[in-house]
Amino acid sequence: MTNALQNRSTNEFIAGIEAIARRFDTATYPQQNLPADDWTLLTRAGVLLPTLPKEYGGRDSHAEMCRVVEAISEWNLPLGMYVTVITGVALRPIALWAEEEAKREVLPLYAGGDPMIAGFASTEPGCGSGMSGMTTTFQEVEDGYRIRGRKHWQAFSSTAHWWLVSAKNDEHGREYGYFIVKRSEGFRTLRPYEPLGLKVIDYGLNEIDVVVPRHRRIQAEGRNLRPMVEMLMASRAMMAAMGCGFLRRISREARAYADARRIGPGPQSEIRFVRYRLAAIDASYTVCAALNDYLRTRLDMKADMIGAFPAVQAIKTVATERMLSAAHHYQQLAGGEGYRCGSPTNISAQAFLDARVYTIFDGTNDLLSQQLTEYCLARTDGLPLSKFLAQWPLTASAITSQGLDLGFLDRDLRQEHLVLAGRAIAYAFTIGQVLRWVAKSSADAGRARAAIEFLKADIAGVATEFGLLSSGVLGIDDGAVVPPASGVPFSRAVPVPVPAEA
Ligand SMILES: Cc1cc2nc3c(=O)[nH]c(=O)nc-3n(C[C@H](O)[C@H](O)[C@H](O)COP(=O)(O)OP(=O)(O)OC[C@H]3O[C@@H](n4cnc5c(N)ncnc54)[C@H](O)[C@@H]3O)c2cc1C
Repeated sequence: MTNALQNRSTNEFIAGIEAIARRFDTATYPQQNLPADDWTLLTRAGVLLPTLPKEYGGRDSHAEMCRVVEAISEWNLPLGMYVTVITGVALRPIALWAEEEAKREVLPLYAGGDPMIAGFASTEPGCGSGMSGMTTTFQEVEDGYRIRGRKHWQAFSSTAHWWLVSAKNDEHGREYGYFIVKRSEGFRTLRPYEPLGLKVIDYGLNEIDVVVPRHRRIQAEGRNLRPMVEMLMASRAMMAAMGCGFLRRISREARAYADARRIGPGPQSEIRFVRYRLAAIDASYTVCAALNDYLRTRLDMKADMIGAFPAVQAIKTVATERMLSAAHHYQQLAGGEGYRCGSPTNISAQAFLDARVYTIFDGTNDLLSQQLTEYCLARTDGLPLSKFLAQWPLTASAITSQGLDLGFLDRDLRQEHLVLAGRAIAYAFTIGQVLRWVAKSSADAGRARAAIEFLKADIAGVATEFGLLSSGVLGIDDGAVVPPASGVPFSRAVPVPVPAEA
C-alpha cells in the first residue's frame, strides 16, 4: 500500500486526499472525537506521508504537507488541525532532529497506514505564553531521563501513542529538554476537557512520570526556548494552509446562503451591506491564499525555520484573525439560523466555534505580535522603526508601492504599543504578499485590490488605537518607557540578530 502511494505523482496523490476529505464534510460529519476507523481512511490515503523521510516510507515533501492540510481544511477545519498537530508539530521535529535510533523506533509506525497518533506536550496549567515558567522537570538517571510533571490542553490527550514533551532542569542553571515519550511509559490523562469547537480532537489534563532511554532526547540547544519556538513554527505557518482551505469554503457557503435567503422582495445578497460583508469574507480568503502561496513557495518545513521567524509570526496572526473575522461575518449573515447547532441551511455556528481558538492557541496572537515588533526593534540599528520597515525586505514593497505612513510607530513603545505595532507590521508584510501573489498568479486583480484596501484600513485602525491610548481616557499611563531592570529588552524567545544580519 505504502509503495503505491510513494510512487504517485503529487497531483494523483493530492487528488486521492481530496476525494477522501469530502467524506468529512463538516455539514454532515458528526461533532465527535474522530473514530480510529475514520483516521485509518485518512492515513491509508497517505496524509502523514509527506512529513516522513523517504527512507522511513514517506514522500518527504513540504509542498504536499501544505496541500494535504489545505484540502482537508476546506471540508473540515478541525481535521486540518488534527493532521497539522501530528505532522507539523509532533513528527516533524522527530524527523529533523531525533537520533537515528529514535527515528527508526517511531517513524515507520506512522508510514504504514495504521491509525497512529502523536502529540506535542508543552502547555501547563500554570503557563502557556510564558513557557519559562514550566514546572515539568527532567533529570538524568542511569537508564536515561526521568520526566515528571503536568501538562494540559494537549491535542490527543487520551489517544496519542507517542509524545514530544518539553521539560526543564535547574540542577546546573536552567536547561530545557525535549523528549520522545511512549504513552505506555507513563503518560496518563487525569481529566478530559470539553472544548467549544474542534470536536474531532480530544483534550485534557495530563500527568507524566516516565523514564525514557537516552537516545529519545531531541538534539536541541538547551539554554533558551528557541528550539521550542522553532518546533512551533511549522504549525503556525500552516495556519495559512488551513485558512486558505477553510475560507474558500466559507466564501462559497456565505454567498450561496445570501443568494438563497429571501429578505423582503429579493435575495439577501442584494442588500448593500450584505454585499459589504461578503466582500470582507472574500478579502480574507484572498489574504489567506496569498499567505498560503508564501508558505508553499518561500518556506520549508523540511529544514530549520528559525530564519523565517518574523514571516511566520505575521502569517499566524493575520491568517487566524482573518479566519475568525470571516466566520463572524458569515454567522451574522445567517441570522438566527447561524446560532443553531446542526442547521440544515448553513455551517456558520460550527465554523465560528472552530475558528475561535485559532487566535489563542499555538502562541496567543497578542504575544506573537509583541514578539514581531521586538524582532524588528532589535534590528533597527538606530533608525526610527518606520524607516527600518521601509527598507526591510519583508515590508519594503508594501510601504513603497502603497505609500504607507507608519510614522505613528516612531515613539517610545510600551508593551501595549509593541502588541499593536506587531499587528501593523504583520499587515504591511501581508500587503506585500498579496502584491507578490497577484503578480505571479492568474488571480483577479480586483480581488487583490480589495484585500489590500482592507489591510490598509487595519493599519489605519492601529494608528487610531495609538491615538486612543495617548488620549489618557483609558486609564493606562502613556508616559516615557522605563528601561527594563534586567537590561534585557526583548523576550528570550525572539531570535537576536546574528552579526551578518545586524
Ligand atoms: C483547543 C486548544 C488546543 C491546544 N493544543 C495544544 C497542544 O496540542 N499542545 C500544547 O502543549 N498546548 C496546546 N494548547 C495550549 C495553547 O497553546 C495555550 O492555551 C496558548 O499558548 C495560550 O496559553 P494560556 O492558555 O496559558 O494563556 P495565557 O498565557 O494565560 O494567555 C491568556 C491571554 O493573556 C493575554 N496575554 C498573554 N501574553 C500577552 C502579551 N505578551 N501581550 C498581550 N496579551 C497577552 C492574551 O490575551 C492571551 O490570550 C491548546 C489550547 C487550546 C485551547
